[in-house]
Amino acid sequence: MVSQALEGIVADRKPQHIVIVGGGYVGLYSALRLQRTLRRELRDGSVRITLIDPQSYMTYQPFLPEAAAGNISPRHVVAPLRRVLPKVRILNGKVSKVHHEARTVTFEPPAGESREIEYDVIVMAAGSISRTLPIPGLEDAAIGFKTVGEAIALRNRVISLLDRADSAEDEDVRRRALTFVVVGGGFAGIEALAELEDMTEDAIRYYPGIDKKDLRWVLIEASNRILPEVGPEMGEWTAEQLRERGIELKMETFLQSCEGGLVKTSDGDEFESATIVWTAGVKPSPIVNSTDLPLDERGRIKTTTRLTVAGVKGAFAAGDIAGVPDVTNPGQFCAPNAQHAVRQARVLGDNITAYLRGEELKDYRHKYVGSVAGLGLHRGVANVYGIKLRGLPAWFMHRTYHLSRVPTVNRKVRVVMDWTLSLFFRRETVSLGEIEHPRDEFRAAAKSGLKR
Ligand SMILES: Cc1cc2nc3c(=O)[nH]c(=O)nc-3n(C[C@H](O)[C@H](O)[C@H](O)COP(=O)(O)OP(=O)(O)OC[C@H]3O[C@@H](n4cnc5c(N)ncnc54)[C@H](O)[C@@H]3O)c2cc1C
Repeated sequence: MVSQALEGIVADRKPQHIVIVGGGYVGLYSALRLQRTLRRELRDGSVRITLIDPQSYMTYQPFLPEAAAGNISPRHVVAPLRRVLPKVRILNGKVSKVHHEARTVTFEPPAGESREIEYDVIVMAAGSISRTLPIPGLEDAAIGFKTVGEAIALRNRVISLLDRADSAEDEDVRRRALTFVVVGGGFAGIEALAELEDMTEDAIRYYPGIDKKDLRWVLIEASNRILPEVGPEMGEWTAEQLRERGIELKMETFLQSCEGGLVKTSDGDEFESATIVWTAGVKPSPIVNSTDLPLDERGRIKTTTRLTVAGVKGAFAAGDIAGVPDVTNPGQFCAPNAQHAVRQARVLGDNITAYLRGEELKDYRHKYVGSVAGLGLHRGVANVYGIKLRGLPAWFMHRTYHLSRVPTVNRKVRVVMDWTLSLFFRRETVSLGEIEHPRDEFRAAAKSGLKR
């Protein structure tokens, strides 16, 4: 039933413009929902939707550790926005300012002048970035683990360091190359550490000069527990498993500096490492500081239980960028994870439709059900709905759960094909680090031509 509000809009012929800032979990899933619920309005032109993101794809972040380990092709952990959202106008570039009072965003395309885009409804879905600390050397020596680019660069780096160590005779060069450090023991850190360690263990069979005892994997964690997402008991079990695999866990320890790759930790240890991965938490995307929308004390967009921005009309927010009150746990906020983001996106989509139709908006309600994590091939840990699983069953659950969640049937089939192939063939452990500097070879050739 078309409400009076919408009839008015159609009669005026002024299309309502919804602008979605960010094409990750919240952006993609809310746009998918709107594409369905507003099908008729999109067809008759009374509503149009624009989604803005610097990338042309959504990254399924929980699969990044498997992509880094070479179990899934990097292309299969992303969903191409234009193909998945045919009724939505996709603009690649970033939003550098939101002026909600004037209902405009400033859009910065990768080339050409920035321009103002007008809207009637805005969705803030720009997610989060790595939360870093002013640690000497961190900016130059470390890498994050949030994007597909970082995951693949890390994979290439780890394998090329095995190549380097296997070809070197200098013990210091070998030790530095074979020492890998991960800072932060949450989801991202533990999964990245466990999957990459598993990959190196698998890869060294092809490196006669490297023995398992030569590899040093170190986790630095400021608190006294890891993987809080699966609860204390399973977190402790995971820690034991990692220690049994020879991984060093430095608990209640801080990274003090890492200038030039010289790692100094608060327990007095000091060693060289060519790989430092920083996964010690996230903070809201910096776009929050260039808006006139209200922020909470943690710098997130202040959001209501109905996923509207508190105190203003025509603005919605969800996911890592938003401080959404957890109605199942009064006084607390929803944690920044995919479990909430994907569910919030659906409610947000429905609430925008209701808002345009002048109908009642719904509260977002979801009780955190626990989590699953992959710890390398055939190894995992899970605590979901109070059911605790370890090892192979947990790993199987991790894979089936994420397969059911990864967007589009196309991606699901491709991921299953990757996994099936790896049943019959060993994973590829070759570094294509060269693709990060594709012009080096040509430049050298051009220079040598000049000398002739
Ligand atoms: C390695 C890793 C593993 C994880 N594993 C799990 C897991 O197993 N389970 C789980 O529940 N959660 C997991 N998470 C967390 C989960 O992925 C995030 O909570 C989720 O992606 C948040 O969704 P979002 O839409 O808020 O942000 P994102 O999915 O990060 O999307 C934000 C989007 O906004 C875009 N953007 C940023 N700034 C701008 C701008 N100025 N203008 C336009 N666009 C912009 C970005 O390019 C990005 O595409 C994991 C995260 C990582 C990094």
